[in-house]
Amino acid sequence: MLKKSLTTFIILSFLAVSLTLVIPNTAEAAQPVLKWGSVGETVKTLQQTLNSKGYWCGAVDGIFGKKTYNAVIKFQKDAGIKVDGIVGPQTWRALGKNSNTNYTQPSRGTARTLTVVATGYCPCYKCNYPFYGQPSYLGYPLRKGIVAVDPKVIPMGSRLYIPGYGEGIAADQGGAIKGNRIDLCFSTHQEALNWGIKTVTITVYP
Ligand SMILES: [Zn+2]
Repeated sequence: MLKKSLTTFIILSFLAVSLTLVIPNTAEAAQPVLKWGSVGETVKTLQQTLNSKGYWCGAVDGIFGKKTYNAVIKFQKDAGIKVDGIVGPQTWRALGKNSNTNYTQPSRGTARTLTVVATGYCPCYKCNYPFYGQPSYLGYPLRKGIVAVDPKVIPMGSRLYIPGYGEGIAADQGGAIKGNRIDLCFSTHQEALNWGIKTVTITVYP
């Protein structure tokens, strides 16, 4: 049912990396709270940032000591924020590093609807001949939620909502999947057969 075009692993890897970059990250990790005695890479980031702003804290050694402390105090005074020598969310924000507030992914556009003809497939040999055992075009293992699309119609990596199927991601391609056609991956062959062929109006999220 699904014939994937051959692509190089370089392209696969590149796309996989690009995809991970555009997956919305609503839980962006906040910078840790740093104080006298803290060590590590984030202390280096802090020291580099302070130094670049003219708050000299000595060599960038990843150790939050007296010089770094003094630089933080001076910065906090100048920034008009709480002067405690502790680098928490407020100080990180003032330094312009990681706002720690309502981080939202910049939108690549707005959601749109699209009427397509949808078929089903599964990870089995029959559905994937001659590419049985290979991951999806974007490198994800084949499983429910993976949707094959024509990248000219639906950009690879788009999140999708398909009535009767649920949420999916445009992560696969197929030789027969051209134009307003999609192929939905199901867990089992029977589920794919049960789906059959349907005309559905899907939502494509950027
Ligand atoms: Zn199958």
